[in-house]
Amino acid sequence: MTTDTGIQGIYFDNNATTMVAPEVVEAMLPYFTEQFGNPSSMHLFGNKVGLAIKKARQQVQTLLGAEHDSEIVFTSCGTESDSTAILSALKAQPDRKEIITTVVEHPAVLALCEHLEKEGYKVHYLKVDGKGRLDLEAYGKLLSDQVAIVSVMWANNESGTLFPVLEMAEMAKAAGVLFHTDAVQAVGKLPIDLKNSAIDMLSLSGHKLHAPKGVGVLYLRRNTRFRPLLRGGHQERGRRAGTENTAAIIALGKACEMAMEHMEHEQTVVRAMRDRLEQAIIEAVPYSFVTGDPSNRLPNTANIAFEYIEGEAILLLLNKLGIAASSGSACTSGSLEPSHVMRAMGIPYTAAHGTTRFSLSRYNTMEEVERVIAAVPPIVAQLRKLSPYWAENGPVEEPEKAFAPAYA
Ligand code: PLP
Repeated sequence: MTTDTGIQGIYFDNNATTMVAPEVVEAMLPYFTEQFGNPSSMHLFGNKVGLAIKKARQQVQTLLGAEHDSEIVFTSCGTESDSTAILSALKAQPDRKEIITTVVEHPAVLALCEHLEKEGYKVHYLKVDGKGRLDLEAYGKLLSDQVAIVSVMWANNESGTLFPVLEMAEMAKAAGVLFHTDAVQAVGKLPIDLKNSAIDMLSLSGHKLHAPKGVGVLYLRRNTRFRPLLRGGHQERGRRAGTENTAAIIALGKACEMAMEHMEHEQTVVRAMRDRLEQAIIEAVPYSFVTGDPSNRLPNTANIAFEYIEGEAILLLLNKLGIAASSGSACTSGSLEPSHVMRAMGIPYTAAHGTTRFSLSRYNTMEEVERVIAAVPPIVAQLRKLSPYWAENGPVEEPEKAFAPAYA
């Protein structure tokens, strides 16, 4: 994509959404035209589509390392999968009124939990340390026969920090508690082997791994207690009613197959591009640092805090140069609040505002990385000249007091 001024765009916002792979587009197109049948129909138009969905289910199964393709339930998105998992656990075990999650989950889990609190459920929010890591001892103490489900994300969408979900699932299993993980950011970026894990449920989303928007999966381990969110037809073996989004499901299957083929590339080439980007920027820009846990992160994500400036302003100037990234603060009702993830990690106010996330994919190149490395330092210098926290060559004295912080 090019900008209005004809500059070739650089897309470093792959944790927000990804480009649909050309091979994936090609795979899904026939399902808009000659393969239009309803997969539930008993005639030839339906049968062929039914078989294609079966293949897609197996492609997802392979990427997740699941034991059976029947454990794959197609949904409309990651959010639906998260809601289905949590609400199912509560419905299936009405005597259990507690949930364990973390303070840094995506709103797909947090907003639901806040709503459930209003309905009388007790939600335990695990805290994180400065690098975004959990305290497993504190977690272990919360597990009890009152807990209906643990829902903990595999990888954080902002910092890229990985949670030890395999270990946490084992702990939950030992305590007889269901374990769900929101793996929307992890699937396709990390090898996953569910059959050798204690994870009961997992959510993924097509548009984060080069499939289109509007399709997701809930992995549901066989024999897991389950109550559907949508009731109606017998699609997905009665676990998710509604005529299948056939083309998107076929696309997701193809995207999973491709993710499997590119896993090594993600772990080596994409990681090397991310590392080069991060190191060069940190070296060139004073008062900047990487957020999250550098030793345990997604290979594609760099979340960098530029102290004493606003992330939104950085994004606007990057955008002028055709560079798409994302910021740790969300512009809500005119007030720029740092994200709940940055706040939870205790990132100081003057740095949390300037966090910028660069998230790469296999479609990025080292040339693009070098262009971004060249673009960032002058932008930061330009913005610092305007910053109330910044004097000639460094921060003003006691920068935290230069402006009244919007949060404590
Ligand atoms: N969970 C995480 C960690 C995410 O990053 C996202 C999307 O950004 C979601 C859930 C929601 O996924 P979807 O957009 O498919 O509903």
